[in-house]
Amino acid sequence: MARVKKTTLPVLNLHEVTFECIYGRGCDGICCQNGRPPVAAEEAARLDANLHKFLPLVTDKARQVIERDGYVSRRRKSGMPMLRVVDGWCVFFNGGCVLHKVGAAEGDKFAYKPAPCSLFPLEQDSNDNWYVRQHGYKGEQWDLFCLEPGCSKTPAAKSLKEELAFAERLTAAETQAQTP
Ligand code: SF4
Repeated sequence: MARVKKTTLPVLNLHEVTFECIYGRGCDGICCQNGRPPVAAEEAARLDANLHKFLPLVTDKARQVIERDGYVSRRRKSGMPMLRVVDGWCVFFNGGCVLHKVGAAEGDKFAYKPAPCSLFPLEQDSNDNWYVRQHGYKGEQWDLFCLEPGCSKTPAAKSLKEELAFAERLTAAETQAQTP
């Protein structure tokens, strides 16, 4: 795995919290259950261009739904369409995230996933400050055990290096886009 440099991104509670994703080690990917992340236009364009890679890997039912109705529903969040859910799971979930698997096989696990999935558990508050989602912090509502303080002994600053680097790239790109 490529070495990830230490982040310079300001994250409000980064050095006070622990976090560890244990998908495949006691967690079946419950963050993708009823997962309906919003999809930005450029992400949708990337998904469209690479859909032929994902379709053979999703469930049969999800493939039928995607081919018939598309992978986004009419629901919207932050003005963006949201991924569909089939049988209670994100349309791209099949024993793991298909977008993650294809991206990882090509060398970048974040290449195809919608940004909220790549960033999790990092999020921005209403003032655009980055923070690590945790129960008891900023009114966190999502009932995931991994967001419980003390659930892991691993400092978030250590376990989230790749997510922090992704957030840093995203912030830099947004700043650049806003610069006249
Ligand atoms: S795109 Fe992937 S990571 Fe995001 S909710 Fe769907 S299956 Fe989960």
